[in-house]
Parts: sequence; structure tokens; C-alpha cells
Amino acid sequence: MTPLFNLSCRIDPLPLVLYPTVSVAILRLDLVHPVVSGNKWFKLNYYLGEATAAGKTILTFGGAYSNHIVATAAAAKMAGLKSIGVIRGERAPELSQTLTEAKAFGMELYFISRKAYQEKTLPDEIANQQNEFYIIPDGGYGLLGMEGAKDILLQNQTSAYTHIVSAVGTGTTLAGLAGAAGDDQHVIGISVLKNNFSLQNEVEELVLTCKRKNVRILHDYHFGGYAKYTAELIHFMNDFFRQTSVPTDFVYTGKAFFGVIDLIQQQFFAPGSKILLVHTGGLQGNRSLAKGTLIFG
Ligand SMILES: *Cc1c(COP(=O)(O)O)cnc(C)c1O
Repeated sequence: MTPLFNLSCRIDPLPLVLYPTVSVAILRLDLVHPVVSGNKWFKLNYYLGEATAAGKTILTFGGAYSNHIVATAAAAKMAGLKSIGVIRGERAPELSQTLTEAKAFGMELYFISRKAYQEKTLPDEIANQQNEFYIIPDGGYGLLGMEGAKDILLQNQTSAYTHIVSAVGTGTTLAGLAGAAGDDQHVIGISVLKNNFSLQNEVEELVLTCKRKNVRILHDYHFGGYAKYTAELIHFMNDFFRQTSVPTDFVYTGKAFFGVIDLIQQQFFAPGSKILLVHTGGLQGNRSLAKGTLIFG
């Protein structure tokens, strides 16, 4: 199994003057690619490797605002592969920015009903070409996605950290982090979905294929649910940028970083802890906020 791209990233120390008992650094996956940032590249890497070897067209699934869809479109283009996006729901009169961008990367888009989407039925127009497609699951969830996410830790200098923290959606990234972490490293995921308690099992199922690890998912920082936000979250993101010059997004990393700072304030981490925050990217998601909401962007 070979990944298609070599992805190594910067680690920036974070000055937290108020909390000198712990140290925090940020692994900047958001800087991995100028257009599509973050963990999606890692998750796609091995799928792309297989698709390239097989010379097939990439086909994947997602919603109209899916980071995974744009990332797949961009990565497929860089790999010289054709790509197809099967999108959940009716085609809106105007394409979302995400889909417009995916299309600009050459992705062919098909829209299917929510029911058909649940069953992952291919649209009639392309159903008979099934053999030409290399199918990547929704969100990159799956073993190869986890394999790619392992490289987030393996391709960077991360063994000295006691805690590794990341935002969690499908849990694929977290499973990769847990799979690659050392036995004495704690892996903590902050779920951005409301009450998504089945996550723990899904992540463990993926991780079981390697080794049972110290992984824990926290459910207190979803701010109302997926892509929901509050004034408090926006205020935090602006404040965090002012203090660190690190931009975050309101769907994933803003919530994860808010959670970490809150946990530090509650003395969740023992003195001497060295925390590595994984900046999973996703900054393009902020474009759906009204202009002026964030002081960066
Ligand atoms: C997709 C995404 C995640 C979640 O990754 P999973 O592997 O689905 O848990 C986290 N952060 C950002 C910025 C994302 O785009």
C-alpha cells in the first residue's frame, strides 16, 4: 500500500502565558495545501494510491457543503484522475461554493434523493459504469482512510507529546491518530456532532484492527450540533486568532480548540502535560459566515 502524496507539516508552539503548567503546540495540517486544507488529504491518500494503480475514476459521496467533496475533487485532479461526486439531495437553483469549487476541479456532479443517498444507490445515468469507478466512502470513512490519518502522526515529529487532540466528525481521523500513537500517549477527540455516542464504537472498531489504544471522545463542545455555532464560539475564535495568529473554522477546529482551552482551565491535564492540537483545516467552511463575523478570513 502506498500513499500518493508526501505530506509533512509545521508544528507551531502556542504561547499560553496564563497556564504555564502545560505546554501546547499546533500541528498545522491547515497549511498542507493552498486550496484544500487539512486532514482530508491524509484520509484520501491511500484511496488515491489504489485508484491510480487501478486507473479508475474516483467516485465519492457528500453533502453540498462537504469538505470531503472539494478535497477529493482537488486531489483527484492532482493525481490526474477523473472524479465524480454523488451529492445528497436535490440540485439547488444555485450551486453552493463548495460544489462550485469541486466542479472547477473537474468533478462531475450528480444529485440523488436523501433516500437513495442513504442506500448509496448510484444515479441511473452512471449506474452501468460501476466497474470503472473506484468508490471512496462518504467522508473517507474506512480502513484506508484510517491508514492515511496515521501518517498525520507518523510523518511528523510527534512522539514527545503526552496528549493528542483533534476534532471528530466520522471518527476516521481519530482512529488513525489512535492507531499511530504510542502506548503512553493519550488521544482525545472532540465531537462536533450532538450526542453522537455511537462514535466511540465506530472508532474502536477501526482501531481494533491495529491495537486497542488510549482513546477518548468528549461530547460537550458541539455548540448545538454540526455546523451550528454561538456568539461565544465566534468570540473565542477571534480571540484565539488575536493571541496566536492561528485561524480556525467554526465547524471543527474552533470547537476543538475551545474545548482544549476549557479543559486546560479546568485542570483536566496533569501538570507537565505536553499537548499536541491537530489543526485539521477546513478553513474554507468559514466562507458561509456573514462578512465581518471573523477578524480573519
Ligand atoms: C472532516 C473534518 C474533520 C473530521 O474528520 P473525521 O475523520 O471525519 O472525524 C475534522 N476537521 C476538519 C477541519 C474536517 O474538515
